[in-house]
Amino acid sequence: MGENMTRYSRQTILPQVGEQGQERLAASTVAIVGMGALGSINAELLTRAGVGKLILIDDDVVELSNLQRQALYSEDDVGKKKVLVAKEKLNKINSKTKIIVKENKVDKDNYEFLSDSNVILDCTDNMDSRFVLNDLAKELKKPCVFCMVVQSKGMLYVVDPDKKDRACFKDIFDQLKSIGNSDELGILNITTHFAGTLQAGEALKILLGQQYTAELVNFDVWDLELDRYRIKKKQNC
Ligand SMILES: [Zn+2]
Repeated sequence: MGENMTRYSRQTILPQVGEQGQERLAASTVAIVGMGALGSINAELLTRAGVGKLILIDDDVVELSNLQRQALYSEDDVGKKKVLVAKEKLNKINSKTKIIVKENKVDKDNYEFLSDSNVILDCTDNMDSRFVLNDLAKELKKPCVFCMVVQSKGMLYVVDPDKKDRACFKDIFDQLKSIGNSDELGILNITTHFAGTLQAGEALKILLGQQYTAELVNFDVWDLELDRYRIKKKQNC
């Protein structure tokens, strides 16, 4: 029984994870692109779940207005780099999880560090970045869990380049330039926590080799609605 198991042996081994699953998580790497609300929630949940390595990517600093929903940060972090603050807090939560930080944006000339990951999480806040990530996921053949939120609504979709019949992100959202400017429209903090939880769940299933959703998930946390849609791959994908 590894050292990581000792930490978790105090709790019941969950049927979804199992003992071998816990070891599998400890040997896994997740790249989190964007360390705002979704990124910080995913990072915290995956660290607590015992994922072995996280790569956090963001070039932004903490602002006071972020604190309404960005889970890992507090008032005395304002002005500091998000990835550095996050690393410090995550290390205190679970010292076994190795935290790698990249203080930059992901673009087409700067992404090699993504190739170390088993799964990529889109925790960005704009469509341009998501289309870049869609291309990179295809090129690197990595599953990527996309997530978008505004006000009380959100969408989640897993792109998996290994699954030949599955639509990619561009197939679904090519016509959509934006889901609305979250600076203007705002985001309820319950939306990002809920969305980040769903996103971390899909990441865990991928890491554990289990079935994850093949459908587009659409939800409204205020109206308590959740729908799933099967999307056809485009012929010119
Ligand atoms: Zn496509």
